Amino acid sequence: MLKVTIWNEYKHEREYENIRRVYPEGIHGCLSSFLKEDFMVRTATFDMPEHGLTEEVLKDTDVLVIWSHALQEEFSDEVAERVRRHVLAGMGLVALHSAHFSKIMKKLLGTSMTLKWRHGDSEKLWCTCPTHPIAQGIPSPIVIPQEEMYGEYFDIPKPDDVIFTGWFSGGEVFRSGCTFTRGYGKIFYFQPGHEEYPIYYMPQIQQIIKNGVRFCVPSVAERIYPECEEMK
Ligand code: ZN
Repeated sequence: MLKVTIWNEYKHEREYENIRRVYPEGIHGCLSSFLKEDFMVRTATFDMPEHGLTEEVLKDTDVLVIWSHALQEEFSDEVAERVRRHVLAGMGLVALHSAHFSKIMKKLLGTSMTLKWRHGDSEKLWCTCPTHPIAQGIPSPIVIPQEEMYGEYFDIPKPDDVIFTGWFSGGEVFRSGCTFTRGYGKIFYFQPGHEEYPIYYMPQIQQIIKNGVRFCVPSVAERIYPECEEMK
């Protein structure tokens, strides 16, 4: 069975009553509740030693799923570099919502990752790559009644595929579901999931995240670490 590690900052849910009501077990608890139907799941949070992302944990992870927001700058440089090395060697990475701005994503993608944002919009999520494995079984559009607006220009490198494009009630659009390849690793960035709204309970959103995890599964049997390659 595929091994998935879900990493959540787990700060907002403990600090704010309204967010705790939405995610009483934390966002990682909600993600775990449906991902464990299909995968072998473990969770890790910011407060654990080494953020719970030790060498042993990463070696034993096929796909890492991350959600972060308030502690991006406080995240350890050393752990971010460790995650990057594992992705380059073949580990999959699914980055959710504000994790676009994590040290891990910035290191791997190399651009500023900036975007426009505003609270209190609704979103229609349109599929713009219906042949992609992540789009299989997903209706289009998916209507998300309440979501934080993320708008273009989103400063990312050119994605391999843009599978979903979000349209917000304020008029902005956003490349909401994108894939990238770095080294031997596959990366899926997926925008929905602002912490104040119960978006990760939506069955279609859960299916997209499951599809994303499956897509990012390593395609190499054994990790190939960049430092181990001799210069020829
Ligand atoms: Zn947000």
